[in-house]
Amino acid sequence: MTVTDAAAAAGARPAGTAGGPRRHEHWINGRSHAPGAGSYFATRNPATREAGDEIAAGTAADVELAVAAAEAAWPSWAARPARERSDALHAVADAMAAATDELAALEWASTGKTAGQLDVEIRLSIDYFRFYAGVVRAHGGRTIDLGAGAHTYTRLEPYGVIGAITPWNLPLNQASRALAPALAVGNAIVAKPSEFTSPSTVLLARLATQAGLPDGLLNVVTGTGPAVGTPLAAHPLVRKLAFTGSVATGRHLAKVAGDRLIPVTLELGGKSPVVVFADADLERAAAAAALAIQTNSGQVCSATTRLVVEDAAHDEVVARVVARLEKLQPGADFGPIITEAQFHKVLAAFADAERDGLTPLTGGSGYADGPGAAGQYVRPTVYADVPVTHPLAREEVFGPVLVTRRFSGEAEAVAVANDTEYGLVATVWSGDVARGLRVAERIQAGQVAVNGGPLTNDTPFGGYKDSGHGREKGLEALHDYAQTKTISLSLGQGTP
Ligand code: NAD
Repeated sequence: MTVTDAAAAAGARPAGTAGGPRRHEHWINGRSHAPGAGSYFATRNPATREAGDEIAAGTAADVELAVAAAEAAWPSWAARPARERSDALHAVADAMAAATDELAALEWASTGKTAGQLDVEIRLSIDYFRFYAGVVRAHGGRTIDLGAGAHTYTRLEPYGVIGAITPWNLPLNQASRALAPALAVGNAIVAKPSEFTSPSTVLLARLATQAGLPDGLLNVVTGTGPAVGTPLAAHPLVRKLAFTGSVATGRHLAKVAGDRLIPVTLELGGKSPVVVFADADLERAAAAAALAIQTNSGQVCSATTRLVVEDAAHDEVVARVVARLEKLQPGADFGPIITEAQFHKVLAAFADAERDGLTPLTGGSGYADGPGAAGQYVRPTVYADVPVTHPLAREEVFGPVLVTRRFSGEAEAVAVANDTEYGLVATVWSGDVARGLRVAERIQAGQVAVNGGPLTNDTPFGGYKDSGHGREKGLEALHDYAQTKTISLSLGQGTP
C-alpha cells in the first residue's frame, strides 16, 4: 500500500483530487499573474506527504502591482450603493457554492483535512459573504441631534486598500472572514495567505472575478511573510491591516503598522479554558472538551485546550474525555498537523513533557504504523494536573493537546480560567445557569459560551490580552473595516 492509498483508506482523500500538483500564480487586477522574480516553491500534502501544488514566490514588486490595482479599484466600488455591493457579494457566495468540490480538493491538497472539516469550513466561508452581503444594506451612520439649527450626521467610509495576512490552519475560512466585511463596506484588498496553504485563497479571488467582482478589488499575492507580508504592511497606500496568526508575527506587524500610524486588527493565539462545575451535564461537557481538540486537530486559535474541572468531577470528566478521544481514527475523524514545522513542534512538546516527568493519559505521540503513519498525524492527547508553571499548561501548542487543572468553588474557577496571558474564548458548564453567567461575565476573554451556547459568524470574535484586538465576525467587523466621518451643516438659523 502506498502512502496515497493509506491516506485514501483512512478516508482522507476527497473525490476529484487526482491529477498531480498544479502551479498557482498571484491574482492581481482580475487576472493570473506570474511572480516578477519567476520563482515558485513547493508545498506538501500533510495527509500523504506527497508533493502538493506549487505557489508563486512573491516579492515586494508583486505587492506593488497588487496595491496599485487595489488603489485604482476601490473609489468606484465605494461609491456604489450598498445594495449593489451586496449583490456582488451574493454572486461571489454563489460562485463559491458552485465550486465547492474544487475548493475542497485544493484545500485538501495543502492541508489534508478530513472531509467533514472541509465541508464545515467551506460552508462557513460562503456564509461570510452571505452574512455581510445582507447586513451591509442595513449598515450606516447616524444623525446627531445638535438642535434645530444644524443637520449633523456620520458616514461610515472605507479605508481604501486593506492588507489581509492570514495563517495556514483554516485558510479559506480566515481569508473569507476578513475579505467579506472589508469588501462589503467599500474597501479593496490585497490578501497574503500563508505560504503553506495559498491555493484556496487564489481560487477564491478567481471565482470572485468570474462572478463579476470588479478587477483590482480582490488581489492575492502569495509568498513568505518577510518577502510579501512585511512589504504589504509597510506599503504607504495600505491604510489598514488585518492580521490573523501568531503572537510573535502580530507583535512585528503591529510595530510596522504603528510606525505608519495605521490601524491593525490582530487575531492571535489562545490557551482557552473549558470550565466545568460538578453540577454540569458532564457528558455534554466532556463531549465538548474532546471535540475542541478533535476539530482541525486542535489547530484552531479558539480551541479550548485547558480543561478546568471542579475537584469532585475532575476524574470522571477526564475519563469521559479520554474514552471519546481513544475512539477517533486518523484521516476519518481528525486530520494531520498541517505544516511539517508544526508537526515537529507538537512532538517536541511531548518530548519536553516526558523529560519533565509528565505522562499523558492518552496520546502523546505521532503514528508509527497504521493509517496515520502515512501523514503528519498526532494522536489526541490529554495530560492531567499539569503544574501551572509548566509550558504545557501556559503556552499554546496548536495541536490536539488538552491539559487539565482542578478548582474548588466559583472564585477559584474564575481565577484559574484567567490565569493565562491569552483571552480569546472560554466555555463554562454548570447546572446553575445564573452561576454560569456570573462566571462568564468575570472571565477575561472575547467570547464565552455557557452550556454549549453557539458562537457563529453572526457573533463578534476577537481577543482580550495577548489574543489581540479588534473584532472580526458579526456587525462589529463592518465597523472595524470602516472609519467614521462626521458631517455637520448649519441650517442658517443661528447655530455658529
Ligand atoms: P504566523 O504568524 O507564522 O503566520 C501567519 C501569517 O503571517 C502567514 O501568512 C505568514 O506568512 C505571515 N508572516 C509570518 N511572518 C511574517 C513577517 N515577518 N512579516 C509579515 N508576515 C509574516 O502564524 P501561523 O503559524 O500561520 O498560524 C498559527 C498561529 O495563528 C497560532 O498562534 C494561532 O493561534 C493563530 N491563529 C489565530 C486566529 C485568530 O483568529 N485569533 C486564527 C487562526 C490562527
